[in-house]
Amino acid sequence: MNFKKITFIVLSALLLFSCGQSSKNNNQDKTEKSDEIKKIDGDDKTDRDERPDRGERPERGEKRKYEVIPTAPGKATPLSAFDEFNPNSVTISFDGDEITIDSDGHPNHTTPYWQESDSLYIKPVVAIAQTPGRIGSHRDRSISLTVSASPGLAVKSTSTGLGPIGISVTGVPIFNDSEGPGRALEEKIAETFDYAGGHVGPSGYHYHSESMDVPENTLLSHDDKKLVGIMADGFLIYGRREMDDSYPSDLDESGGHTGATQHSNGEEFYHYHIINEYYFGNLIVLFGGDFKGSPNNIL
Ligand SMILES: [Zn+2]
Ligand SMILES: [Zn+2]
Repeated sequence: MNFKKITFIVLSALLLFSCGQSSKNNNQDKTEKSDEIKKIDGDDKTDRDERPDRGERPERGEKRKYEVIPTAPGKATPLSAFDEFNPNSVTISFDGDEITIDSDGHPNHTTPYWQESDSLYIKPVVAIAQTPGRIGSHRDRSISLTVSASPGLAVKSTSTGLGPIGISVTGVPIFNDSEGPGRALEEKIAETFDYAGGHVGPSGYHYHSESMDVPENTLLSHDDKKLVGIMADGFLIYGRREMDDSYPSDLDESGGHTGATQHSNGEEFYHYHIINEYYFGNLIVLFGGDFKGSPNNIL
């Protein structure tokens, strides 16, 4: 056995982590537990999804438990924004004052987290390690979010919690800047992100960070004005730039402000941006702040 092989085995055995819980939220459940990171190696054909179920994953449909916070009256969310969601994974339903976003959680872009038999599977471009599990496996979890069609700012902000805190235009859940109870994102975790800023956790594929500037990325927002998705409080989230390509200068601590976007036909409404700040290295998180509206539970 050569040295490289030994190094690989040692690294494979050492790396541990778990997914998706805010360090700031005191009202958390402890459902997502440690998982091994699989070091990338072309010769390793182990299928981690064949391991016995250890009973540690959240139940499908488990409710987040956000408190309802009173809000000021809000402006109508521009409906043309919903045309940007991936129709293969996402269904949008409009019902009076409410909008429901349902998704199977499957992205419409390439990633090494697809199963190798899938047409969207690619070899890793930026990830140097991978979390266990693949899209289309038992880890998949569909998500549903119902928001006000005119979300307002809440009387107080709410820290983000475990699991999905928003839904991306691709249909993939958006997670916050933590990877476990009291565990902020760190280099070892970021090494498992694909170019889309995503990886697989105990409840499936999800994004933590802005996508990366690589030729393979033809879809996702990177240092631009593209729509990123919708957060659990009903506010849209855009890329780092305004529609005139400038960086907004009046963002609150969650990346939000009131202004017009390419979808709003000149109407001003509250929306978030990805904050143009490095979290560490060249990593920019999608949403590391608190909800400024009243968050709805993503089921
Ligand atoms: Zn994660
Ligand atoms: Zn803006």
